[in-house]
Amino acid sequence: MSFRSLEYYGSEALRKQSRELDCSSEQDFIDTLIIDMKRILYTENGLGLAAPQSGENVRLFILNPEELDLSGHGVFINPRIQTSGTSIKDEEGCLSIPGIFELVKRSSHSSITALDQTGRSFSLELDDYVARAAQHEYDHLEGILFIDRLSPIRKRLIRKRLSEIKEEYRSGKRIL
Ligand SMILES: [Zn+2]
Repeated sequence: MSFRSLEYYGSEALRKQSRELDCSSEQDFIDTLIIDMKRILYTENGLGLAAPQSGENVRLFILNPEELDLSGHGVFINPRIQTSGTSIKDEEGCLSIPGIFELVKRSSHSSITALDQTGRSFSLELDDYVARAAQHEYDHLEGILFIDRLSPIRKRLIRKRLSEIKEEYRSGKRIL
């Protein structure tokens, strides 16, 4: 049985820097974590989920291969990301910050190198929406949320909703 659940805005796990994983010594931990993360992702109908959103500060995120073209990949462990291309504004949301959708500026291209669930290294070139999803999830590993990338004016406009979320999901768990 596993009990990891989605962490919400206000949770400390969402604000910490995550540590690298060791695929040989931590395989069991990684396997159960991925099971829990996939359960959360599919329950919430999300495009992606980063480990801190399930309460674990480790460098792993998943993207939904049924929704995004990922050449068969979906699990990204110890990812490295390089962004390039043009800067594009598009709407973004986050499972951990329900009800807030805002335009966020991101690079149109992501070059990503990571390990898969078996510890094998792979590289992917991602464009547009998929590149954006990877950048969003990568930010989570650094303790960065998409709302951090908004202008001061937009931040002020969502401040009330953010404090409502904190109230509804005290300590990062749903209470109301
Ligand atoms: Zn997110």
